[in-house]
Order: sequence, then C-alpha cells, then structure tokens
Amino acid sequence: MVVIMRPAASDSEVAGVVQRIEKFGMQAHLSRGKERTIIGLIGDEREIDFDSIAALPGVERAIPILKPYKYVSREVHPETATIAVGDVVIGRDLVFMAGPCSVEEEDTTLRIAEQCRRAGAQIFRAGAYKPRTSAWSFQGLREKGLQILAKVRQATGLPVVTEVVDTADIQIVGQYADMYQVGMRNMRNYALLGELGKTDKPVLLKRGDSAKLEEWLAAADYVARNGNDKIILCERGIRTFEDYTRNTLDLNAVGGAITESCLPIVVDPSHGTGRAELVAPMSRAAVAAGAHGLMLEVHDNPRLAWSDGKQSIVPAELERLIQDCRRIHELTR
Ligand code: PEP
Ligand code: MN
Repeated sequence: MVVIMRPAASDSEVAGVVQRIEKFGMQAHLSRGKERTIIGLIGDEREIDFDSIAALPGVERAIPILKPYKYVSREVHPETATIAVGDVVIGRDLVFMAGPCSVEEEDTTLRIAEQCRRAGAQIFRAGAYKPRTSAWSFQGLREKGLQILAKVRQATGLPVVTEVVDTADIQIVGQYADMYQVGMRNMRNYALLGELGKTDKPVLLKRGDSAKLEEWLAAADYVARNGNDKIILCERGIRTFEDYTRNTLDLNAVGGAITESCLPIVVDPSHGTGRAELVAPMSRAAVAAGAHGLMLEVHDNPRLAWSDGKQSIVPAELERLIQDCRRIHELTR
C-alpha cells in the first residue's frame, strides 16, 4: 500500500500513519517530497484493514498494491490446481458436467443421468435446493432430491455436483454430493463460503452476475483461507444491457481467470445464454478460449423440465457437443 498524505499534513499526522502501520507489525517507508509526503507500507497489506489507514487524519489517498486475494492467485501458486471429484480430475483434461437444472422425479432423473453418461458426461449435475428469483417458483426437492442424487451415483457411477444455499444445509448436502455448488446468488455469501472452507469437498464457485473477476477471486479466497483449496471457478454469464440472452457469457473471464488464478475454470453456457440453440456454439467457444470443462443443462423433454427448460439441450445434442468440443480441445491445447 502507498499512502499519499495531504499537502498540508502535519508532522504529527505523518507520525500517526507510521505508528498505525507499525502497530500492525509492518514497516513504513517515508518519502518526503517538496509538497507531499508519501508513505510506503512494507509487508502483506492484506493482513490489515485498508480503511484503518485510509481514514487517518492527513491522508489524502491510500493505494493498494497487492490484489485482494492470495491463496488462489497464480502469483503465489504458478501451477494450475488439479482437483479430483470422485475419480474425475478437473484442471487437466476437458471435463463435462451435465444434467437437468433441478432434481426431478426419481425415474426421470435416473433416465436423464444415464442418457448424459452415454453421451459422454463425466459428472452429473442437478439442484435439490433451488434458489429461485420468485418465492412462488419450485424451490427443489431438498433432502428427497439428495437421495435421488445418491441413486444416480449408484446407478451410473457418475459423481454428482449439487448446490448448497445455506450454511445449515452444508452437512446434509455433503453426505450426498461429491462436490458442492455455490450459485451465482451466493457468491457473496461470505458466511457460506467460510464454512465450505472448513469442509474437504471440492467447491464449484459460480460467478456472481455482477461480480468483477477480482471480486470473484476474492470470494474464492474466503473458501481457501479456511483450509479448503479445492475450488473450481464457473463462469455463468453476467448482467449487461443485452436482454436477448438471459445473461452475457463473459468468455474474457476464462483467459482472465487463467492468468490471475491457479484455479481451474469451467463454463456454463446454459445460464450464460438462457437459450438452448446457443449452448453448443458457446460451448465450442468456451473450449477454444481455454476452459477446463463445461457445465450443461440437459433434459430429454425440455418443455416438461421443472426449471430452465428453455436453455436445456437434449442428450443427442450433448453427445454431438462433447465430440465437437473434444476436437477443438485437441486443436487448441
Ligand atoms: C444452476 O446451476 O442451476 C443455477 C441455479 O445456476 P446459477 O447460480 O448460475 O444461476
Ligand atoms: Mn438452472
């Protein structure tokens, strides 16, 4: 951090800043110019509260130098993390996660899971706890849904990823899931992220729809700081002025995340577009952009899907998409 003092800052105000910096166990480096004094903080500025320096009397501005995340940064961990979900490894070869938006009746869910497996999916996705925009929409089968997911794993051998929406549900979801999903709405739920950091299961962290890359990575640090570094990022589209699509899939974030972070990143073009016909082309684009995998909503009768049917592709489309993406991956890796 660099602290720029006001031109009229008194010697005692300068001394006050130095004292505060030293109180945190860091060193202050003073540079006295003709008009202003600038104080450089030497040490890990992330360990002190920024405002406690920026708000001191005589301070004009404080400028952070370090990024607001550390555990998940490429700077600190040059190698891309590889994370095992069941016996599937994310961060090395291309991984496909697929399934309906919500866990539905047992027979439907089992049937779709088998179709996804045959199409080439390696991880099954479906929400048992559904955070919906409307309080009147279907909210998920909850524990019954988790039990159905356990049957899917047993029947197909596929590991399952499912969303956890509340700290109170972490334990029960963890009994059934191979990977926790944190949804777009909860990316800023720091209590939830912190508690997931105390578990030893991988966490798929979806990007908040108004979160900058830096804020998303800072959110990942909440999980990692508590001890769990098995985190996978998921780009799922952000809000822009465009409303032809449900969201704007930000494929810039793939390259950005790979440069800034050691975490693998997967892309969800289903929520990123909201339109089934755009899912395959955006999947191919995501793989060309360097994504480590894809998360896709699949239903064998999208019109009857309990949620997000409009963006759900059918198993035959999934199969084709996986083949195309694998070819693109071969060409671009
Ligand atoms: C989902 O994956 O079904 C979901 C709710 O996604 P998001 O949190 O990205 O909206
Ligand atoms: Mn959905």
